[in-house]
Amino acid sequence: MTRWSPRAAGPAGSPEVIVVGAGVIGAATAFHLTRLGVRDVLVLDRGAAGSGMSCRSSALVRMHYTFPAEVELALRSDAMFEEWPELTGRPCCIRRTGFVRIVRPGEEAALRANVAMQRSLGARAELIDAAGLHELAPAMYAGDVECAAWEPEGGYGDGAVVAGDLLAAARDRGAAYRPNTQVSSLLTSPGRVTGVALADGERIYAGTVLLAAGVWSPPLLRTAGVTLPIETELHKVAVLAHDRWEGAPVACIDSVSQTYFRPERAGAMTLVGSFTGPRGADPDQVGNTASAEDVALLVKAASHRVPALADTGIAGGVTGVYDMTPDARPMLGEVPGLDGLVVAAGFSGMGFKIAPAVGEAIAGLIAGPPPGSVGIAPFRPGRFADGAPIEPPYPYSDD
Ligand SMILES: Cc1cc2nc3c(=O)[nH]c(=O)nc-3n(C[C@H](O)[C@H](O)[C@H](O)COP(=O)(O)OP(=O)(O)OC[C@H]3O[C@@H](n4cnc5c(N)ncnc54)[C@H](O)[C@@H]3O)c2cc1C
Repeated sequence: MTRWSPRAAGPAGSPEVIVVGAGVIGAATAFHLTRLGVRDVLVLDRGAAGSGMSCRSSALVRMHYTFPAEVELALRSDAMFEEWPELTGRPCCIRRTGFVRIVRPGEEAALRANVAMQRSLGARAELIDAAGLHELAPAMYAGDVECAAWEPEGGYGDGAVVAGDLLAAARDRGAAYRPNTQVSSLLTSPGRVTGVALADGERIYAGTVLLAAGVWSPPLLRTAGVTLPIETELHKVAVLAHDRWEGAPVACIDSVSQTYFRPERAGAMTLVGSFTGPRGADPDQVGNTASAEDVALLVKAASHRVPALADTGIAGGVTGVYDMTPDARPMLGEVPGLDGLVVAAGFSGMGFKIAPAVGEAIAGLIAGPPPGSVGIAPFRPGRFADGAPIEPPYPYSDD
């Protein structure tokens, strides 16, 4: 485990750690750094906390993953969400509606194996059949479901709230924050990163720079000569004025309809999101409104699972951009060949629910890991260059 010498590269008075990006990941890391005693943390964001993709997140919370370390990150985060008021001093931030995972026909054996793995790690996950699904969620069509995974404590949160809570708690413990501050490049000396240059020409030096700029990370990495395989992927979300759920509304990821959905505003509305989208979108150029045509396609697909959605009122549609890696898992850790540079990016559409635990693990990499933090070695950024992408034992065809 590396421990850098804070301030080794910067003049006295410079921060120990600069965090670029105040989304859920940067804010979580700043929070945990201050908990680990690193008080001299400076968080920079070109906008405001949570104003990147965190505020556009559907923010589902679930433990259902196919790779054990992902489950561990989700579990560790969920424990922190559960004790949010004690941890951050802010109100509880997760609505626990329950969560259902439905896979494609023929992939039920993988579903069973994954639920067994999740349970062995401590997740509250169960297998249910069609009758069980109908009982839990009568609004959902269960006729094509042989078995599904059910998490009674799954649900959803709010990315902007979580980023704001964590940043505020970090500032309570001494972290400094500069919103509306754009980093234009990383500063380097041979073999290490020494700080950042701002768009107005100011230079700030530090022993460690954490790059947590989400979809905006690759261009900043390139300023230090680093190319990591992160591509953008455009996603659409329909916002439906739907309050006619039979029974209590639940959150769901459904591989058959290739949609996910969850209640919004305590069930008065429903969000429906897409599984895939076109690659290569410029996050600064795509608008944040999904077209009526896109929304109609989402509603049509999701109404296979929840027929009542077919004649619901449409409140609107939003867009967001995922930062995709080749194995659809994040890159977490030191950037090979550049001491002092840590990256936490490439979350591939899963960053909200694991943010508190990722922040703890990244802070632990810098300041020494606290008890219970999750090992993130499998997510090391160099794995693709080494030809060692993550390969879960029981993947789904659309995982
Ligand atoms: C439509 C959508 C649905 C999603 N649904 C889910 C879900 O259901 N569950 C889940 O777990 N995850 C979900 N995600 C993924 C999750 O929201 C993201 O992985 C997570 O919010 C990313 O957080 P971040 O901190 O890495 O990035 P961001 O929130 O994008 O934060 C990056 C920050 O960096 C700042 N920044 C960028 N460039 C610079 C610069 N040059 N200088 C200074 N600051 C800069 C930005 O202003 C921004 O605030 C979804 C994402 C989208 C888009």
